[in-house]
Amino acid sequence: HRHSLDLKNAIRAIPDYPKPGIIFRDITTLLGDARAFRRAVDELVQPFAGLKIAKIAGIEARGFILGGAVAHQLSAGFVPVRKKGKLPHETVSVTYQLEYGTDEIEVHKDAVKRGERVLLVDDLVATGGTAEAAVNLLSSLGAEVVAACFIVDLPDLGGADKVRRLGVPVRTLVA
Ligand code: 5GP
Repeated sequence: HRHSLDLKNAIRAIPDYPKPGIIFRDITTLLGDARAFRRAVDELVQPFAGLKIAKIAGIEARGFILGGAVAHQLSAGFVPVRKKGKLPHETVSVTYQLEYGTDEIEVHKDAVKRGERVLLVDDLVATGGTAEAAVNLLSSLGAEVVAACFIVDLPDLGGADKVRRLGVPVRTLVA
C-alpha cells in the first residue's frame, strides 16, 4: 500500500541506539515532513471518527505530539500519561516490567471520568509493556479504553497482540 510505504520511508532507523544491538525507529523525520505527519495523523484517526471518543491519552513523550494532533482532529480532550513525578496534582500510578528493572507511569486522578471513552496514542509499540500499563491505569479510573493506536508496530516483540489480549483493539500503520 503506497501510503504506508511513504510513512515507512519517512521513519529513520538508527542502529545501536540507545544500546548496541537495538535498531531505534526515529520518527522525528516523519514529524518534520509536513505531508507524512498529516498522513500519519489522518490514517491513525480514520477508524475512530464518529465513535464519540471523549479523550485521547498520549504516552510521554512522542505520544504527546501525535496525541495532541489526534485529539484536535477528533475534537476530543487530551490526557498526558507521564513518567513518575511530573504531574502536579493528585495522581494514580502503575509500575511495569522492563527488560531490566521497572518503570512507572501516572495520570491525574481527575483526568478521565468513569465511563469516559478514551483512545490511547503512542508512536510505537514494542513489547507492549508501556501500553498495557497505560490501559490498566486508565481502566483503574473507570475509563473505557476503546482502542490503542501507534504509527509503528514491532510485530516480532508481540506488543500489539499483548494489548489486544486485554480486549483493546489495536491500530498500527507500519511494521
Ligand atoms: P514497549 O513498552 O512497547 O516495549 O515500548 C514502547 C515504548 O518505548 C513507547 O513509548 C515508545 O515510544 C518507546 N520505544 C521503544 N522502542 C522505540 C523505538 O525504536 N523507537 C521509538 N520512537 N520509540 C521506541
